[in-house]
Amino acid sequence: MLLEAPIVRIPGRAAVDRAKIELERRLGPSKVLTSADACGPYASDDSDVGGRPPDAVVLATSAADVTVALEVAEACEVPVTPRAGGTGRTGGAVPVAGGIVLATHALARIKDIDRANLIAVVEPGVITGALHDAVEREGLFYAPDPNSLESCCIGGNLAENAGGPRAFKYGVTRDWVLGLEACLMGGRKVRTGKRTVKGVTGYDVTALLVGSEGTLGVFTEATLRLVPRPPTVATALALFTDVRAAAETVGAIVTAGIVPRCLEMLDAATLDAVRAAGVAVDLRAGAMLLVEVDGDAAESALERLGEVASQRAGCIDVVVAQDAGQRDRLWAARRMLSKATRKLARHKLSEDIVVPRTRIVDLLARMDAIGESTGVRHLTYGHAGDGNLHVNFLWNDDSERPAVDRAIGLLMHATVELGGTLSGEHGIGVSKASYLHLEQSAELIALQRDIKRAFDPKDLLNPGKIFPTDGAHRAC
Ligand SMILES: Cc1cc2nc3c(=O)[nH]c(=O)nc-3n(C[C@H](O)[C@H](O)[C@H](O)COP(=O)(O)OP(=O)(O)OC[C@H]3O[C@@H](n4cnc5c(N)ncnc54)[C@H](O)[C@@H]3O)c2cc1C
Repeated sequence: MLLEAPIVRIPGRAAVDRAKIELERRLGPSKVLTSADACGPYASDDSDVGGRPPDAVVLATSAADVTVALEVAEACEVPVTPRAGGTGRTGGAVPVAGGIVLATHALARIKDIDRANLIAVVEPGVITGALHDAVEREGLFYAPDPNSLESCCIGGNLAENAGGPRAFKYGVTRDWVLGLEACLMGGRKVRTGKRTVKGVTGYDVTALLVGSEGTLGVFTEATLRLVPRPPTVATALALFTDVRAAAETVGAIVTAGIVPRCLEMLDAATLDAVRAAGVAVDLRAGAMLLVEVDGDAAESALERLGEVASQRAGCIDVVVAQDAGQRDRLWAARRMLSKATRKLARHKLSEDIVVPRTRIVDLLARMDAIGESTGVRHLTYGHAGDGNLHVNFLWNDDSERPAVDRAIGLLMHATVELGGTLSGEHGIGVSKASYLHLEQSAELIALQRDIKRAFDPKDLLNPGKIFPTDGAHRAC
């Protein structure tokens, strides 16, 4: 959703050449890519944000490499864009000013899994799913589970404060971070936070760095909180005639005092995409809730949940997964939604707005009106338990793009009017920077810019992200 390219300072040729020579001298040529072919893959992420091809890519394999890259970048006044798995949805890892991409995916060691203290110490390039596997082998559990977990990395999760289906019960990445090691522009290294469960010393810089979208520092290590792996997990599907009935059931489940770990909702168009991808779904269903409960009382919680759902108007059926294989198949269907819906049109943009749970029905009604007034095709699925919905816009022809941008603008307005927030997990990046003022006051944006200046006075670390770059507060 790029209304306008961000206005950023492009480094001069002489500065870039100096930086390349210095990086190669200090890191060795094997860690510094400079050819257009080699740098090309680092120009984009999983958004439609267009950047400039980077002038150089540093393939860091140690914290010391990160320090060198940030020292050289500051000395030569060349911008740096940190990168991990490249699955970001708002252009966070896109080098909009060119310069250096600092790739951290090869910093991929799980340094420690401490069962007695329930912590893991990891590097930023660890794939999220690999961390799950490693801690679960030890009988432990790390909850944040973005649906991209097979390809995104902990570094990107930290920078975006990633969430996932399990956030309803267990919270998002920030809730699982005890401490960080980060490198700041110029190469200064800071260790923040703690390795203990409690600790309130000083400002909570850890919480500030998590979700800072690669604009304040580059993570080189994280100390993460773990819990014992829940002994039992139970999963069920509830099928409804329409999405309104499904959305109202979300509220009824929560009011009944049931806390599922996941409470996902799919609308009719999404179900059609799932069917088209070969997954059999009852043809009467126009919406689905996918719910999962865990803990000692999982079975009885699921039973109660089934009772609540089946008593609601519009409920067609509640189907409980009978074994782990069936559960895995249900989740595989959920995780392939992004790919399945992408096949519906030549272009797709996925938003990640959040509204209070009680306003989901209103948001869906507003989306129908927006679709009608702009003529843009859309579908919605997502983490309904916490009100975090992926509203997807679909179009085939480039001439439809202005209408899509209008629809997105209207969605952002509606979200804020309903008491919601622009992003539940993808971050603001480039894509949503021009909408920030809808949610945040000029004073709050100015305060955040001051914080950014304290960390990075020359605005060289991931410029063009989060804040509108033209200084204006635009209406959309
Ligand atoms: C199919 C699909 C499903 C998705 N589902 C979810 C979901 O359920 N929940 C969710 O939250 N997101 C989801 N996402 C979005 C994306 O996967 C997340 O934002 C993820 O956290 C990005 O991680 P990454 O390693 O790919 O980061 P990248 O895309 O490489 O970077 C993301 C941001 O992190 C910064 N960054 C990267 N490494 C570092 C570092 N070492 N230090 C400092 N900053 C750094 C970058 O500068 C950038 O701003 C999905 C994406 C896809 C493609």
